[in-house]
Amino acid sequence: MSFSARNRTRYIQQLQEETFDLLVIGGGITGAGIALDAVARGLKVCLIEKADFASGTSSRSIKLIHGGLRYHKQLEFGIVREVGQERTILYKNAPHIVIPERMLLPIIEGGSLGKYSTSLGLYVYDRLAGVEKDERRNMLSKEKTLEQEPLLNTSILKGGGMYVEYRSDDARLCVEVMKTAVEKGALCVNYVAFNSFTHTVSNKVNGANCTDMINNIHFHIKAKKIINACGPWVDELRKKDNSLHKKRLHLTKGIHIVIPKERLPIQQAVYFDVEDGRMIFAIPRGKKIYLGTTDTNYNEDKNFPYAHKEDVIYILNAANHMFPSAELKIEEVESTWAGLRPLIHEDGKSPSDLSRKDEIFISDSNLISIAGGKLTGYRKMAERSVNVVCKQLKIEEGRQFNPCATEFIKLSGGHLEKYPNEYARDLQDDFKQFYLDDVLDLVLKYGSNTEYILASAQTNFKDNLLLAEAEYCLEYELTNNTSDFIIRRTGRLYFDRPQLAGCLDEINQYFNTQLNYSTEQAENNHQNFDKEYTRVVAFKNV
Ligand code: FAD
Repeated sequence: MSFSARNRTRYIQQLQEETFDLLVIGGGITGAGIALDAVARGLKVCLIEKADFASGTSSRSIKLIHGGLRYHKQLEFGIVREVGQERTILYKNAPHIVIPERMLLPIIEGGSLGKYSTSLGLYVYDRLAGVEKDERRNMLSKEKTLEQEPLLNTSILKGGGMYVEYRSDDARLCVEVMKTAVEKGALCVNYVAFNSFTHTVSNKVNGANCTDMINNIHFHIKAKKIINACGPWVDELRKKDNSLHKKRLHLTKGIHIVIPKERLPIQQAVYFDVEDGRMIFAIPRGKKIYLGTTDTNYNEDKNFPYAHKEDVIYILNAANHMFPSAELKIEEVESTWAGLRPLIHEDGKSPSDLSRKDEIFISDSNLISIAGGKLTGYRKMAERSVNVVCKQLKIEEGRQFNPCATEFIKLSGGHLEKYPNEYARDLQDDFKQFYLDDVLDLVLKYGSNTEYILASAQTNFKDNLLLAEAEYCLEYELTNNTSDFIIRRTGRLYFDRPQLAGCLDEINQYFNTQLNYSTEQAENNHQNFDKEYTRVVAFKNV
């Protein structure tokens, strides 16, 4: 497999020279899933992404592989069943980035959950979602709930329900899916922006005019079929295709905040009521707790959504109501992120009531657009989209394609025969110079690929794990700069911001020299990261 930033110029050349069965536009989880599904069925596939892979919503979610409890509340039972099955499949294929996490639902005075309705709700949910026996719901008295979570507000607590959700890392999941597609022969390139469509004489799309955003070169890609998987930008492409009629997107913003774990030392994840009737999560991740999310209409710049002061205060007030002894303060928030939900508009519905269902639109010019959906359901969304392409190619060219096989494809890094903790311990036995915590941290990002990083640290980097990790990302994950590495590949901007100052120069220097960046490109690399570094704490000023 070749997926190296050192070879990017060659990939751009290939994009221009070949004719593809399918061009996927958009390198979030939806596009990545489609590329993998299509290449596994035997199509010749390319994918372009205008910025970094997962730089849109797919690095900005609350990072859960949901069993679909909220859909159950909205009586969307079909989705509960589907996402429950998807969660099981993902856990099997990517056990390093899909981690079971105990989740406590506190039941409170005046809250949205009653004791009996929660018990019944979780019971039905367990059955519909096909939850394993040892992960099924467990209802708790007030005393037992407090034993589990002593920080809860005793004055309003009535009891609790315990169930299991799965925690993930959205951007890593997206990159692992993309790498797997590339291993199977797809050509996936980031920093290539779609500009306009080209058409056959019968006015069907047959290619795209694009720009290489790193070298500012314009070129054309030839493709028989095109899927628009641009998430919040789906309607921009439909507009350029003159097909933005009837249904359209409705964007809502959700923000998350990160605080040190010692400021809210909860024992497990908690999904709790907010006084306005919504619910939010508090989720432990390493030495941090992150909390989210909000759901507000959004009409600003799609490229740079960020958390405003009022968003952060909303989450802090909700947390302080549920965990009053914590007395969380705005100054203690270390980092934030904000994402845009690409939902399908329904007249008269509030943001939280809009369905999370996905939908495919096929235009007169045969542009296939897929909108809505969830990270958790990406594989089924891909299957449905690729089915459309295969059906069309069968009719037009008489070609036969294999059925969808992604259920059985392990994702890159997913070849673990043991739980991540045990695998990390085994690896550390072989590489005793590294701390177990550091090895485990790598395993939870790179899974079975961690051994390449450790071996390379030992052989080429005098045991400098950070540089060995940067080299792995540059060589095997098309990582082009500091932001790609620190934000999407490793999540450090969100979960390690206070520590970043100590290693930034080393990382900047590494990408600049390894990719032979000119002085101007190096300066851009620096400045682009600086903007992101500031944006995650912009709420302190606005
Ligand atoms: P995106 O990830 O946005 O990808 C679209 C890509 O298209 C972008 O990278 C963009 O740069 C690219 N693009 C746009 N225009 C062009 C162009 N002209 N040329 C080339 N490329 C272009 N789902 C869950 O399952 N679990 C959760 O816990 C969860 N939590 C969420 C919390 C929040 C706050 C939000 C906002 C969403 C959450 N979701 C969750 C939903 C999930 O994150 C999204 O459904 C999913 O990430 C959407 O992926 P996508 O690939 O469709 O869009």
